[in-house]
Amino acid sequence: MHISNTPSSSPDRSISRRNALFRIGAGISASITTTGSFVHNLFAQPPMNPPTAAPATQESHEHGDMEELRNELWAKEEEKYQNLRALKEKSPHQVFSAEELERAFSGEGDIVIACMDEGIELPEGQFKVAIAGSGVLCSKEDVAAFLQKVREKFPERKITVTYHEGCGACAAACKPPMHPEELGKETAQEEMKQLGLEGEPARIGFDENNFVCMNRPEVLHPARAIYVDCEGTFNRTALTNIPAGFDLSAAFFPNLKELVSEVRLAINIAKGEHGMGKERFEKQKLLIALIGNPNAKFTQEVKEALTDVLKENKGIAEQIEFVYA
Ligand SMILES: [Zn+2]
Repeated sequence: MHISNTPSSSPDRSISRRNALFRIGAGISASITTTGSFVHNLFAQPPMNPPTAAPATQESHEHGDMEELRNELWAKEEEKYQNLRALKEKSPHQVFSAEELERAFSGEGDIVIACMDEGIELPEGQFKVAIAGSGVLCSKEDVAAFLQKVREKFPERKITVTYHEGCGACAAACKPPMHPEELGKETAQEEMKQLGLEGEPARIGFDENNFVCMNRPEVLHPARAIYVDCEGTFNRTALTNIPAGFDLSAAFFPNLKELVSEVRLAINIAKGEHGMGKERFEKQKLLIALIGNPNAKFTQEVKEALTDVLKENKGIAEQIEFVYA
């Protein structure tokens, strides 16, 4: 079976037509939220390459359009959501085909270091190693530890380091007047140096003229799940019937503290004003998929480390175990 998961051409999540409309929203967010919490800062970035200005009269439609888009994406992802949630009672082999599972856990492909952003979905042949802002929130030492783990796991593999347009993690870590995307690019450049790679990092953006095109509307995070991969081999996009969600390659994280902090951040984005919102998750919880062998020491440590975050978000988020054996 051939999987067609090239983000820009995926009929399943073809939301790019919305992007033009929601560039308008990005402008509005920029004008009202230039300071404040991390989540409020998510879209407070003027684009590096400004799109054609939209008529001001469209701005008043923004909130209604956002809600309409949330409803549309929520309904569209419903079956996928239920499919993932079924893992509470069923084994992955009862939910997915053996072929799909094998592909999803093969860890094959060229390594692409990228943000946890659920809009970053790579085509076949590429394997996403995910951490917020490609590591922008980590100290230099932690970035070095992260890269070392990636290299140890994949000693011979081609590695591409990326940064992306509209990165909330970069916005949080960035000090004005620097543009968040500049920080993202610098971080990626530094990582390439550490990895001994030549050339420039790859840019991921909201249009086709990039390494890959972001597969979500520009001002909305449609995530219904957070995928915490304790194995370092899980490829979410190989499973076509699971919902979009933040990706965290826990296996390569420098430490559990950073992992917990990024899971908390992902939950805050999902339940915040740029995500699907708290009210929806009170009805159908955000799924924290703990991926890996439940008997492995590391998986148990991750589970233990996430206890407090889950308690803080009781009624909004729930953990499911995704065991593949
Ligand atoms: Zn990002």
